[in-house]
Parts: sequence; C-alpha cells; structure tokens
Amino acid sequence: MRMACYIRVSTDRQADDGCSLEMQRATLEKYLSIMNLVSDRDQVSWYCDDGYSAKSIAGRPSFLRLLKDIREGTIDALAIWDLSRLTRSIWDLRDILNLLAENEVELYCMNDDVHTETASERFSMNVRMLSYQFEREKVSERTNAVLIDLVKNKKRYVAGGKIAYGFRRTREKELVIDEERARYVREMFRLARHGMSLEQITLALNTLQSERYFQVENVRCMLKNRKYSGHYLFKGVEYDDIIPPIVTDEEQQEALDNLNHHSQKSDNYIFAGLVKCQCGTPMTNGLAWGSHYPRRYYYYHCRECNKYFSQIKLDKYFRSYRFPEGGDAFFDRIQTMLTGRQKAIRDRLRRLDEKYASGYVQEKEYLMLREVLESRSREAAEDQESLGCLNKKYADMDILEKKRYVHEKIKMITVDPVGKKVLSVEEREPLDPAESPVGKIGKG
Ligand SMILES: [Zn+2]
Repeated sequence: MRMACYIRVSTDRQADDGCSLEMQRATLEKYLSIMNLVSDRDQVSWYCDDGYSAKSIAGRPSFLRLLKDIREGTIDALAIWDLSRLTRSIWDLRDILNLLAENEVELYCMNDDVHTETASERFSMNVRMLSYQFEREKVSERTNAVLIDLVKNKKRYVAGGKIAYGFRRTREKELVIDEERARYVREMFRLARHGMSLEQITLALNTLQSERYFQVENVRCMLKNRKYSGHYLFKGVEYDDIIPPIVTDEEQQEALDNLNHHSQKSDNYIFAGLVKCQCGTPMTNGLAWGSHYPRRYYYYHCRECNKYFSQIKLDKYFRSYRFPEGGDAFFDRIQTMLTGRQKAIRDRLRRLDEKYASGYVQEKEYLMLREVLESRSREAAEDQESLGCLNKKYADMDILEKKRYVHEKIKMITVDPVGKKVLSVEEREPLDPAESPVGKIGKG
C-alpha cells in the first residue's frame, strides 16, 4: 500500500498543545506499525506543513502537493494525526472527502479514530467537523467579548505577546512604564527631535544600552508607535487612559516630522533640507541630466523665484568652510563607550576560552557563545567605523559622510540663486550630552 502521511503545525503554536512536527511524525509512525498498515517504511511518503493555519487550504504547499498526488492516483491511503490537521472548515472537508472517495483513497485518522470506509463513518466525521468549526467560531467570539469588556470597562491593556520596549506588565496585567528602559525610549525621541537620522539614533541606542540590539527598522517602528505617547488602539477604538505615556504627543509629532524630513532626502543630496533661498523659501532637491561627466547635476530649487543653486557650488563653498569645532561631545562619548564595549567583548571571549580549556564549558555551548560574542564584536566594529567618519575632514569625505557631517553641524544655509552666492550659514547648536535623560550611565 502506498501510504501518505500529512502532518502540520499551525502558526499559533499554543493551539497545537505542543504537538510538534517531530512528535506528530513519531506518533504516526508508531500508529502505522501497530495498525499493521504498512510493511515497509519506504511505502510512506510524508507531507509536512510547518507554521500554517488550517483555516484555508490555499497557501499550504505540502497539502496542495498531497491533493495533486491524490488526483494523480499515486496514493492508496492517507494517514493523519487528527482531523483538525487536515482542515477546520466543513466545506473544505466535504471536498477533500469527495476527492479521496473519487480516487479510492482510504483515510486513517489516528486521534479521532475514524476511517472512511463506511457511509456512517463519513457522516459522523461530518458532524465532528461541524463541531470543530462551530467551536472555533464560538471561541473567537467569546474571547473578543471578554477582551473588549476588559479594555472598555476595566481600562486594561490586553494584547498578549511581546510588550513594547520601555513598558512592563504587572502581576495584575497592567501595562506600566519600565523606568530602566523608558529612559532609552525618551533618549530615542529626544535624538529624533534634534534632527538625528534613524541610523544615528540606532547607533546611539546600541551604545547607550547593551541589553538589546536595535536595528534601524526597530527604531523607525518605535518612533511611530503611538503607545509611547499613551494611545492604545484596540479593535478600531483608540483609548487614551490605559497606557501611561513615556513621551508627550508633541514630542512624538516633532520626532516624526524630523524623521519624514530625513526620509525625503535622497542620499545624493548633501544639503537636502538645509538650503533656503534669500526670498525665505526652503529650496527643494532637483536633478538635471547633462551629456558630459558627471551627467547628473544635483541642484536646489526655489519654487517662488524659479531659480537654481547647484550642489557643486555649495560643495566647493564648504570645502573651505571652517566647521565649528567640538559639539561632538556626544559622539566622543559614544566613541569611548564603543571602545569600552569592544574591550569587554574581548575579555569575555578570553574568559570563555579559559573556561572551555579547563573543561567548565561543553563544546556545543562554547561554540554557540563564541559565535554570539564574535557577532557582537563585529557589530561594535561596524558601529565604530561608521562613527569614525565624523573625524575626517570634509573634503576627504564621500557624499554620505559629507551629508551626515553637514547635517550634524549645520542648521541652515541661505543662498542667493541669482548672484550664485552663499549668503549665510547658521550652525546647529551642539547637542549637549549633559541634557540627556540617560545621564552619565553607559553600560560597557
Ligand atoms: Zn526664492
């Protein structure tokens, strides 16, 4: 007999009560041999879907392959763990059972202990499926009603799973501010409000705290997360009195405005967002195509006067510009911390080697820890490198470095697009590290 076995675990692993693919497979194998259904393991072909819901068939690759093989007549029998593995929809089940019958495939269902040889068994399976479906709908209805009541009347935060960084859940399941982490959240918003780019903020966060490694995308999502200003969206309704705010609405708005301002800038525009026309209008990025090298001409455009100022001219101007010294205290501090972190990682690597050499650590554990530490060390080295460009001279920088540097130092450049002259440069106030809510802490 050519036996097919289908196993599946859903995306919601809790619903599966811990029946992993491995466990399903082992149990089914035992079942097949006890029932004497196959004499040879080679007759069994496995179809496994890892992390798929049973709500629909489409999108479950192995299940679709199984259906195809049934249609093509390469299977005599199908064994499953329980019916819910196959489908939770009575309509889909009807089609599947018809397909099995048409192709004379027997169904063996281990946990529900049915197989489809007789009409009455088929009927009882239909009933069982109906109850599965009904139960599923009932459960989700009931859960919704309870949750909505909790939020609406008991003013409680109910979303499960991971909690936004900066908060923690109390025993009473309330969401409260985790002060230890919240100060990094405040720092993140503060830096964004000071016009730092996502990359700079990410770098700063990873330097100030070492508990979690932030990616640029995490920081972007966090800045947008309205929970930080105390808003909680649940089932389409926004509640303002459930979550304590870590920053104010205004602070978040200002941070987001700055972020948008940054993202509108293309990497090729060193002075994007900084150039103002003498008429008072902020100038926007423009691009012209020429027939000779460099072919692309970047310029800044005043819509009011319909005049242009080329990037080449501005770049020349800043080659001989005396940038304000200092004001990099913040970055100096980050640099020191990064060096400290590198050293700490090296120390830990050395201690790990010693422990391994003296037999305190198993090889598997050792290799795993070593890999973690090495990847941290690489990350720190990359951070250090991207920070290093801030010590270069403007003229030696590439476009991205220039852009980062200029935006760090300069607040506004006013130009005369008719006389083709730079009229004035307004420098940015240095970011004072003492102002930081994180203060002087810095974990190596
Ligand atoms: Zn103008």
